[in-house]
Amino acid sequence: MKRAIIIEKEKIEIQDAPIPEPGYGQVLVRVKAVGICTMEQRYYNGGVKDYPFHGGHEISGEVVQWGEGVSQNLHKGQKIVVASLTRCGECYFCRRGLDHLCENADETHEKGALWGPGGLAEYMLVRGYEVFPISEQLDVTHATLAEPLACVTRSIEKGNLQLGDIAIVQGAGVMGLLHIKLAKLQGAIVVLSEPDWVRREKGLNAGADYVLNPLEEDLETFVKGLTEGRGAEACFFTAGGNKAVEEGIRSLVKCGTMVIYGSIRPATPIGIIPNDIHYDEIVITGAIKTTKDSFQKSARMLGEKLIDVSDLVTETYSLENIDVAFQRAQEMDTYRVVVLFNEAE
Ligand SMILES: [Zn+2]
Ligand SMILES: [Zn+2]
Repeated sequence: MKRAIIIEKEKIEIQDAPIPEPGYGQVLVRVKAVGICTMEQRYYNGGVKDYPFHGGHEISGEVVQWGEGVSQNLHKGQKIVVASLTRCGECYFCRRGLDHLCENADETHEKGALWGPGGLAEYMLVRGYEVFPISEQLDVTHATLAEPLACVTRSIEKGNLQLGDIAIVQGAGVMGLLHIKLAKLQGAIVVLSEPDWVRREKGLNAGADYVLNPLEEDLETFVKGLTEGRGAEACFFTAGGNKAVEEGIRSLVKCGTMVIYGSIRPATPIGIIPNDIHYDEIVITGAIKTTKDSFQKSARMLGEKLIDVSDLVTETYSLENIDVAFQRAQEMDTYRVVVLFNEAE
């Protein structure tokens, strides 16, 4: 089989490797499509230099075979998505049902040894619990969105949206658009704050009810104008800087929730007046990664077409053109760029 390894900055090597045999509890997956996320881009552009790196964690494919100890009812050729979860099931967080925070999830590796989620390959071995069946009808490229959608599912759930609530979404990249779509599904009225006009248009098409440019218009004034001066029930920060987070918090109604979904680099403190939290009972929280629960929900929502992600996959490339795929993925005019494997079958 072929696999794509990032061996140094902006250098991807297509290597030959044996097709692995599934051991106890493992499933062999024939990979069909892999989305290039910011994580893979960071290794490609040299932001993180832990090489050789085998990326690919937004994966759709089909079941080839499995070892003993896989209790799911799988069949050969079954369409699945891979969650890339390492869960020990025994640590403090796994036992509290917070398995996305598993203390043993980080697979440590020797310096210089090949490592990474490993989806950028024609075949991969995964644990049975990482395999989530998905509708046969769903396009394989759209199915790669199961992982980001599972992350956003947790974020939206933490925002506690109710019917008719006002939800602010900051940023309209892939994660922002998924927030807009899920917030609409939860019955919210969505205000998108995004400086780029092309992305604001994309946000409107994804279902945003109001859009504004935060460089020209004050978010707090805008949202309070919609709500008799009270503010939004929830704000989801997906992109921007400290100022955006502060604006988001100021735009909330009493008892509203700020979900910090995106990371900010470099990270520096933000300004919060403790009394504002005391008097207004604002909740400030974050959301990271996926749980088995959010992945299951995501796979079902995509499979049943509750969420349409066709506007998020903007380009697809064959393995031979993976360099172009990585270069394009980093540009502002693309959303998800997807690499296809085993196309002939
Ligand atoms: Zn991702
Ligand atoms: Zn654990």
